[in-house]
Amino acid sequence: MLISVAVPVPQLDLLTYLVPDDVPRPPIGARVVVPLGSRVVTGLVVSHEPPQPAGELKPIQQVLDDSALVPEEIVSLALWTAEYYAAGPGDTIAAMLPPAARGLRADAHKTRRVAAITVAGTEALQTPDAPLTAKQREALELLAGTADGLATAALAGRGVAADAVSRLARRGLVSVRPERVDRDPFEAPALDVDVDRNRRLTAEQTRALERLSALADRREFRVAVLHGVTGSGKTEVYLRLAAAVRATERRVLMLVPEIGLTPAVASAFSQTFVDRVAVQHSGLSDGERHDQWQRIRRGDVDIVVGTRSAIFAPLQNVGLIVVDEEHDASYKQDESPRYNGRDVAVVRGQRAGALVLLGSATPSLESYHHATTGKYERVTLERRVLDRPLAAVTVVDMREEYAAAGPDVILGRTLAAAIGDRLGRGEQSLVLLNRRGFSTAVFCRQCAGTLDCPNCSVSLVIHGEGRARRARCHYCNYSARVPAACPLCAGPYLEQTGFGTERVEAEVTKAFPRARVARLDRDAVRRRGALTALLSKLKAGDIDVLVGTQMIAKGHDFPRVTLVGIVSADVGLGLADFRASERTFQLITQVAGRAGRGDQPGEAIVQTLYPDHYSIQLACRQDYPAFYEREVKFRREMRYPPFVSLVNLVIRARTFAGAMDDGADVAGRLREAAGNSFAVLGPAPAPLGKLRGEFRVQILTKGANRTRMRAALQAVLAARPDLAKRTTVDIDPLSVL
Ligand code: ADP
Ligand code: ZN
Repeated sequence: MLISVAVPVPQLDLLTYLVPDDVPRPPIGARVVVPLGSRVVTGLVVSHEPPQPAGELKPIQQVLDDSALVPEEIVSLALWTAEYYAAGPGDTIAAMLPPAARGLRADAHKTRRVAAITVAGTEALQTPDAPLTAKQREALELLAGTADGLATAALAGRGVAADAVSRLARRGLVSVRPERVDRDPFEAPALDVDVDRNRRLTAEQTRALERLSALADRREFRVAVLHGVTGSGKTEVYLRLAAAVRATERRVLMLVPEIGLTPAVASAFSQTFVDRVAVQHSGLSDGERHDQWQRIRRGDVDIVVGTRSAIFAPLQNVGLIVVDEEHDASYKQDESPRYNGRDVAVVRGQRAGALVLLGSATPSLESYHHATTGKYERVTLERRVLDRPLAAVTVVDMREEYAAAGPDVILGRTLAAAIGDRLGRGEQSLVLLNRRGFSTAVFCRQCAGTLDCPNCSVSLVIHGEGRARRARCHYCNYSARVPAACPLCAGPYLEQTGFGTERVEAEVTKAFPRARVARLDRDAVRRRGALTALLSKLKAGDIDVLVGTQMIAKGHDFPRVTLVGIVSADVGLGLADFRASERTFQLITQVAGRAGRGDQPGEAIVQTLYPDHYSIQLACRQDYPAFYEREVKFRREMRYPPFVSLVNLVIRARTFAGAMDDGADVAGRLREAAGNSFAVLGPAPAPLGKLRGEFRVQILTKGANRTRMRAALQAVLAARPDLAKRTTVDIDPLSVL
C-alpha cells in the first residue's frame, strides 16, 4: 500500500512511500516517520492515492498518530495553498502546524501530577490505629478535603514532599494521575476592554447585524464586505454575529492582523466567550500555541481568534470566518508559502459553506471591487457610534512652512500649536511618521557620497544621538559606528539628512519639555512585553504624546486621544509601487480614525508636500467611495489588480551580470510560453537591487489567467532547477518593491 507524504523540506514535492503489510494504513492527516536520503524526518500523510513513481520505494519507519492529527479538510486546504502560491507542500503544512507538532515529539503538553485520596486511604484515615505517621495523616486529611485531589506541587507547598506522596501511593492510599495543563495565554490580559453585553446597538449596527445574520443562516458560502468608518463599532457587530452563529451550533474563526497591535478584538472575544475561545498567534510561546491548537483540535472551543496562520486552525464545522482589517498587509506572509490569509479565508469559507466577512474602514481595492460587482455582498456603517463626528482634518502645505521657517521644519506651526493645546487640556496626541530612526541618510558635503550598506543597495539609517549614534541597515541589520570623516574622500563634513521617528520624538520633547513623550515603532518594542507596557501606559493616561510608525495607526481605541498629527503624509507616495496611493490613503484614514473616539471630538493635521494629491485629499475627507472610483480607474487603465493578476519573480545571483543573464533567460522562456495570454515585463534590476550581498533582478507577469501564468512559470523553473533555489515567486504580490 502506498501513501503520499509531505515533508517539511523547502521546495520538495510530495513523496511516495510504502506502508509495510503488517502496519495498518495511517490515515490522512497522521504523522509518519520516513527516511529521506540519509536523514529521517517526520512528515504528514496527505493522500492514499499517490502517483506511482519510478524507482524503488522506501517504507515508512513509524506511524506517530493512529488517528488524524490534522483534519483532512485542513490538509486539503494546505495543499490548495501550496499549489496556488507555487510553494512546497511540506513547507506549507509546516507553516500551519503548531511548532511542537512539527518535530518528533508527539506530545509537548505540560503535565502536572495530581494526587487524590483512594477508598483505602479514606478508610485508613477513619481507622484510629492505622499505621500512619503524623505527616502522612496530615497529607491524607488535606486530600480528603478536596474533590479531585491536589497537584503534587501544591502539596509540596503545604509541606508534603514528593517522596511522601510516592510512599502513600505505593501503599495504595493515594492515587497519582498526570493531568494536562493548558497554558492560558490570557493569564495576563494585554488590555482590558469594557464589554458591555447590554449595550444597545446603533440603528446601523442593528441593520448590519440583521443582514449578516440572515446570510449566515443560509448556511452556504457567501462573502460580505463590512465597510464601516473608523469608530463605527465593527467589533460589536463581529461579536454579536459570532454569538448568533455559535447559537446555531457552528463555529467561528476570527482573524486579526497583529494581536499585539490590536489587542482589543481578541480581548473582547475572550471576555465574551470565556473558555470557549482559543487564541493562535506568534506572540505565544511554542507550548502555549501547541496547547491552544490541541484544544481546538479536540473540539473544546467554538471560537478561534488568531493572526494569519490561524486560518489553518483545526476547527470543525465552521459557519463564519471574520477577517478584521482585511486590507492589512500583515495578512500576507513574506516568506514561502507567500499566502494571503484573507484569500485563503475565502477558499476555506467556500469549502465549509460558511459566511466570510471582510471588515475594514478602508477595504482593499480587490475586495471592494467584488462588492461593487455583486460577487460579494456589501454592508456599510457610515457613521460613528453615539453620533461622534469623524475627526476634522486640516491639511498643511509644508512648502509654505519651509518658506516661512526654513527647510529644517519637522513640526509645522499648526501641528505644534495643536499639540500644545492638547497638553494644556490634558488630552493625548498621536504623531505619525512612517519611517524609523533618527536620520535617514548621511551625506558628504565634499564628495556628495552617502553612507551605504556594504551588503544592500540602500543608505544606512542613523539611530540614536551623540555618542550612542549607530548607522544601521534596515534590511540586513548591518550596524556600524558613524565615522567622523567620509569613508570615500576623508572629507570632514558629514551631514545627516532626512528624519525618522526618533528625530520627531526629540523635536516634540524639545518643543514641550514637560510633556511625557514616548515612541512606538519596531525599535521601541523589540523587548518582549514592551509593546503591551507602552499601550497600557497610553491607556492609563501616562503618555501625553505618542510618536510612531504605522504601528500607531492600527485598530487602537484610546478615548483620550483627540489629536492625530501626520508629519509627512507623502512618505510612501514616491514609491514605484502600484499600491502606493492605496497605502497612503489607508494609512492617513486609519490614523486619523484614531482621534476623537471618546467624548471629545477629534482633529487630524496632515502635513504634506503634495496637498493636491488625490489619495491625500480624499483621505482627509475620509471619502472612501470617491477614492475607490478614482483608484479603480487607474488600475483598469494601467492593467493592475483587480483587473489582472500579477506574479512577481525575483532572481538572485552573486553578480549583477549573472542575475541579469538568468533573468533574460527566464523572461525569454516565459514569453515563449505566454504567447499573448499574459505579459512578461523585465528583467529589470529590482527596486532593492542588492540585498544581503546578492544582486536581484525582477520579472513581472501580468495576465487575466493566473493558472496559466503559474503553470508556465513552474515549467520554466523546472527546466532550470539550478535557478529554482535562487528564485522567489510571489503570486498576487502586495508590493512589487
Ligand atoms: P471600529 O472597529 O469600527 O473602528 P470599534 O469596534 O473599535 O470601532 O468601536 C468604537 C468604540 O465604540 C469602542 O469603544 C466600542 O466599545 C464603542 N461602541 C461600539 N458599539 C457601540 C454602541 N452600540 N454603543 C456605544 N458604544 C459602542
Ligand atoms: Zn544591508
